[in-house]
This record gives sequence, structure tokens and C-alpha cells, in this order.
Amino acid sequence: CQIDKGETVSSICNITFNEINEINTYIRSDLEKLISSDFFKYFKIDLRKECTFWDNKDGLCFSPGCAVDPIDDWAKVPMYWQPDILGSITNNTTEDIDIHDDECSFLDELCAEEKRLPEIPECNYCDVNDFENSNCVLVDLSKNRERFTGYGGNQSREIWSSIYNENCFSFGEVGKSLAKDTFYRLISGFHASIGTHVAFEHLNLEEEDWGPYLEGFMEKVGNFPERVTNIYFNYAVVAKTLLKIQPYLKNIEFCNEYNEDVKRNIMNIVSQLDSTIFNEDLLFENEISSVLKDDFKNRFRNVTKIMDCVQCERCKLWGKLQAVGYATCLKILFELNEGDEISKQDIVDKLTKYELVALLNTFNLLSETIEYVNDFETIYNKQALYG
Ligand code: FAD
Repeated sequence: CQIDKGETVSSICNITFNEINEINTYIRSDLEKLISSDFFKYFKIDLRKECTFWDNKDGLCFSPGCAVDPIDDWAKVPMYWQPDILGSITNNTTEDIDIHDDECSFLDELCAEEKRLPEIPECNYCDVNDFENSNCVLVDLSKNRERFTGYGGNQSREIWSSIYNENCFSFGEVGKSLAKDTFYRLISGFHASIGTHVAFEHLNLEEEDWGPYLEGFMEKVGNFPERVTNIYFNYAVVAKTLLKIQPYLKNIEFCNEYNEDVKRNIMNIVSQLDSTIFNEDLLFENEISSVLKDDFKNRFRNVTKIMDCVQCERCKLWGKLQAVGYATCLKILFELNEGDEISKQDIVDKLTKYELVALLNTFNLLSETIEYVNDFETIYNKQALYG
């Protein structure tokens, strides 16, 4: 790859590719442990939610790889994830839903001790009222990994083109504004991270064997240095988000049983990150920031909604999770920049556990992606050397 790994990732990420690789190696096993804990490995999603942008009724993905296995053996699920504790996944009707509930609030019912105040709607970067309805299923993420599913062709291209063409800023605008560039980079890094996972956990249909597929990686990501750069850019953005909330995490409860372990683990990971990794203050310099921030919010909320149009269930699951993860980043980076300590603490206190699960899982996916990119480089070099 034509990237000089000793160079900084971008003008607003004051860190080199090598330094991110190094950080990632340090935190990898802690992050893996955190994500595989009972707290972070479950996610609730409505896989049948209607696509509101176009008619995609005929566009189902019939490949077995597209399927998601929702939880059906409840005996194996920790007590606090049981439907009656969760507020009944199966019996809820839409009428039961408090109009103030949003998709991010359901996880607060996990611990049942403390019900957080609803999100302030203006602060939401993700789609509201998304996850509290009778069609939601609970999914064990560790059993439904992001990997090759066979989803592709016009169906998936239509989704990506709608995200780029209708929701990113126009090409005329990109390159003239750091904030608008950032929006495009986030989407492109998100897309490249999916492409890297698809190529690394790939099914060779002839040999029926799972393993890394170098040519697929090169076609989708490796031959495009800017796409590789955008993966590192996204890593820096999410890492900075974690650094920003770290001083205010004290009031968040991760369920009694796990609280201290989870907090210690998060603190341990965050303490190895570097605060100069991303400078969000530069984003809205010289811009009419409130207007542009609103624009960001609306566009990103649309991206989370477009995920309902993805015809492959497993892709939708991970697409939605990451869209909410990035939406949470934007919310924290932009909203936590203003105001006094009390209002900052208030924003973090009101972060729902749903957003935290999406945020940490998105960071873990990027961390895996960076590991895979380096593994692909090794495979590439070996092939170049030995043929
Ligand atoms: P696509 O990846 O569909 O890309 C379309 C076009 O976008 C390309 O031709 C190129 O011009 C441009 N482009 C591609 N990458 C970038 C980038 N990083 N930055 C900027 N522009 C770019 N498939 C799976 O097997 N497993 C999954 O888990 C999975 N999850 C998905 C989640 C979502 C939300 C979506 C929309 C699709 C998902 N897919 C998944 C499908 C996958 O992303 C590809 O669409 C599919 O593999 C077909 O790839 P393609 O080579 O035709 O180009």
C-alpha cells in the first residue's frame, strides 16, 4: 500500500499510522475481553422495520449467510437479559411505548434500578423510537459476527450510493470544509471497515473454506490508500470520543454484577489512548457551527434509517450498530465541547447503555479491521516475495 506509515493520518489526527498500530496492539486483548462480556455482547434490533425511502419488498437476501440467529434459548441468557426484566421483548405493543422512549433507552431497563431520563431529542443523532417495538429481537453478537454473507450486486450498491449521494455533502463541498470532509471520511471508513471484514472472514465458495481473501481486500480497500486512511481516521475519532467521556463515566451503571469490572476495563483501555489523536475543535472553525451541526445530525440520522433498507439481516444488524456507534461519537464530540462541567456530566449521564454498547462494539470492529489490514499486508508481502 502506498501509505507512509510514519506520516500523520490527517491534519486533524495528530498521530501516525504506526502509532495507531502500536496503540491497537496494546489494547486489543482488553477490548476483546470487554466486548465478549455479557454486558456488551447483546444487541436488540428490529430486523423487519420498514424501509421508508423506497420499496424494497422484493429485495430479500436469500443467501444463508445473510441470516441472523436471534436468541431463542433463554435459559442460556443472563438473568438481566430475560424478556420480563427487559420489559418484554415479545409482548410489547407499540401503544405501550412511552412516547419519550427512544431506541437508546431500552438498555437502561437492564439493571432496572435506575431509569435514566429520556434523551433530549435535539441531541439525537440516531433514529428515534427505533428499537422499542414488538418486532425487536435480541441477538448475541458473538454468534453473529460481521463477515462475508454473499450480499452484494445492485441491492447493496443502491444502499451505498444513496448514503454517498443523498446524505454526504456534495463533491463540490468536500475538500472545502473540514467538517464536510469528516462526514465523507466517516462513511468511507465505515464502508472500508465492512469491506475489510468481508474479505478477512471470507467464504471460498469452491473449497467451502473460511479465510482471508487478499484479492477481495485489494479490490475493495487495499488499492485505495484513502480508504485505508479513512479506517485509521475513524479509529482516531472513536478513540477520542472514549477519551472525552472517560472523566464523566463515574455515574454510569453497568449492572451491579459487572459495574466495577466493566468500568476498570474501559478505564484501562482509554488510559492507553492519546488525547492528541483527533482534534475536533478544528472541525467547525470558521463555520456557522450551529447550522452545520444540525445538518450533520439530520444527515447522520438518515444514515441510521437507511440501514432499515438493507436486505441482508446480518449486514443490517452490523450496519445499524455501527451507524448508531458513529452517531454517538458525533453527539459526544460536538455536544461535549461546550458548556460547563455540570452540563458535560449531564450529557454523559444521559448517554444510554444502548449507545455505549454500539460505541464500544464499533471501536472493537475498527480495532479488528486495523489488525486485519496489517495481516493482509503481511500476506501481500509474502506473496510478492515467494509468489
Ligand atoms: P460496494 O462495496 O457495494 O461499493 C459500491 C461503490 O462504492 C464502489 O463501486 C465504489 O465506487 C464505492 N466505494 C466502495 N468502497 C468505498 C469506500 N470505502 N469509500 C468510498 N467509496 C467506496 N457484505 C457482506 O458480505 N457482509 C456484511 O456484513 C456486509 N455488511 C453490509 C452492510 C451495509 C450497511 C451494506 C450497505 C452492505 C453490506 N455488505 C456486506 C455488502 C458490501 O458492503 C458490498 O456492498 C458488497 O460486497 C458488494 O461490493 P462491491 O465490490 O460491489 O462494491
